[in-house]
Amino acid sequence: MVYVITQNCCKDGSCVPVCPVDCIRPVGAAGEFTDTEMLYIDPEACVDCGACLEACPVDAIYHEDFLPARLERFTEMNARYFQHHPLQTGDEPVAERPTLAAGTMRVAIVGAGPAACYAATELLGVEGVEVDLFERLPSPFGLVRAGVAPDHQDTKLVVDVFHDAFENPRFGCHLNVEIGRDVTHEDLLAHHHAVIYAVGASKSYDLGIPGEDLPGNEAAADFVGWYQGHPDHGGDQFDLSAERAVIVGNGNVALDVARILLLPRDRLAKTDIADHALQALADSNIKEVVILARRGPRNAAFSVGEFQALGFLPGIDVIVDNDDLDPHAGDDIETVMKLEVAREYAQRQPSPGNKRIVFRFMTTPAEVVGNGKVQGLRVVHHGFDKTGRLVPGAGHTELIETTLILRSIGYQGSPVDGVPFDVDQCIIPNDHGRVLDHDGHPLPGVYVTGWIKRGPRGVIGTNRTCAEETVTRLWEDFDDGKLTRDVQDRAALEELLTQRNADPVGWSGWCAIDTAERKRGVEASRPRVKFVDTAEMIAAAKA
Ligand code: NAP
Repeated sequence: MVYVITQNCCKDGSCVPVCPVDCIRPVGAAGEFTDTEMLYIDPEACVDCGACLEACPVDAIYHEDFLPARLERFTEMNARYFQHHPLQTGDEPVAERPTLAAGTMRVAIVGAGPAACYAATELLGVEGVEVDLFERLPSPFGLVRAGVAPDHQDTKLVVDVFHDAFENPRFGCHLNVEIGRDVTHEDLLAHHHAVIYAVGASKSYDLGIPGEDLPGNEAAADFVGWYQGHPDHGGDQFDLSAERAVIVGNGNVALDVARILLLPRDRLAKTDIADHALQALADSNIKEVVILARRGPRNAAFSVGEFQALGFLPGIDVIVDNDDLDPHAGDDIETVMKLEVAREYAQRQPSPGNKRIVFRFMTTPAEVVGNGKVQGLRVVHHGFDKTGRLVPGAGHTELIETTLILRSIGYQGSPVDGVPFDVDQCIIPNDHGRVLDHDGHPLPGVYVTGWIKRGPRGVIGTNRTCAEETVTRLWEDFDDGKLTRDVQDRAALEELLTQRNADPVGWSGWCAIDTAERKRGVEASRPRVKFVDTAEMIAAAKA
């Protein structure tokens, strides 16, 4: 009997070091990004001790005897990973760094999402290091609060991993402080030996097709912000009056959005979805969500765990509109399993009266059609030349009627004042976390981590490896004597914030907001009822 890792896996590897027989894979060194969607436990090696279950921050690990039906497939998925990647052990343990004298290493981290939090946790593991974290919003945790779907509450538990860091006396928490508005990049350098930017990527790309300005063609990123109660999107509105919505792109964000559009009110009402979205979705007419992909099922961007979970949603059929569902020689195990699940969906009979998620492939948006607002999306199907070779966009065109198009085609980062920016990749240019100037030389003391470093890819735990890589570079520079400038201390920083009329919310302020939201949640039988307005949050922080 063994333990099994399931859908929620955040991949941060908290389970890996506690396993007495080292049977959880794949794991890499700092900055070595393993390309699987999740981690797996080798059932042959597992000794049934349960240490991994205790360590998992997101409740993704189950004993195989207690797997709910919707997760039973994961027993086979864990085992099949090791059939293709036999377990190898024997990595060297990493040496601990010696304690530093107080004030020898002060690091500023900009952003408070998972990448920032993992970097802070990693740095504070070295005695003597001081960390100051700055975040524009009065709330921490970035995409854990504003990205992880409301119906994935277990995944949000990952924030518990960061509590020790936030409560460490060497940690300074400065929420509601914006770089560029309240303090500058130069201010940060004057008060810290190193600055790590972890500002994420929150803007959507455009499709670049005619008609894109029509109201009703919206960014999935904005829709997510709206239903998550992100203060930037509290006033947004989405037309949910038609029976069909179309999502362009088939990554995990598209699947999140499709579920939120179709889940029954009673399911959403058990989550921390924003109140305004709960009301609007309860009145929604949407019965069908079409998810469009420009490539075929073998190249689908969603992960197999999220895809198979759709099949367990109440009152929702999953339709796969494609018959090219056989694996090819050399396909990785996750692709093989994705196609297995797709074949199962393709064989299912839809139930009358059910809502529908329809997956369509090999289809590219060509024009947003409408008169004053979106009325449809013209798409072009892929065709084949005389030799049978695929020619993108060479097939017939079709108008899909809808009043709501959500572009879920990836996120892009935005520039930070005073810091180099790569406009082509929409990231801060860097070499494994060291920020590079316009000539490609490392900028002394400036680092980057998370989506603004590597682009919008990976799950929450990917940021742990990413942050470890950046922090490793920072220590290399420290050991080379490159981070020895005299800098001002935390008292001077706090004085500067006062001079600038900043209104920082500290960790205790956030705890007060958190408590108030949870209290509102208890009254409504929900995990929390979020504040959407920053003024309300700040008032709760001070109450
Ligand atoms: P994503 O996984 O990169 O998917 C983007 C999708 O957009 C792909 O299907 C891509 O197609 C398509 N696309 C890009 N440009 C396009 C264009 N011009 N026209 C049509 N389609 C286009 O991005 P995401 O869904 O935003 O997710 C971001 C990251 O967050 C991913 O790593 C994801 O796994 C992670 N995430 C994870 C979870 C979870 O674990 N539950 C939830 C949400 C997000 P091509 O493949 O053909 O380029």
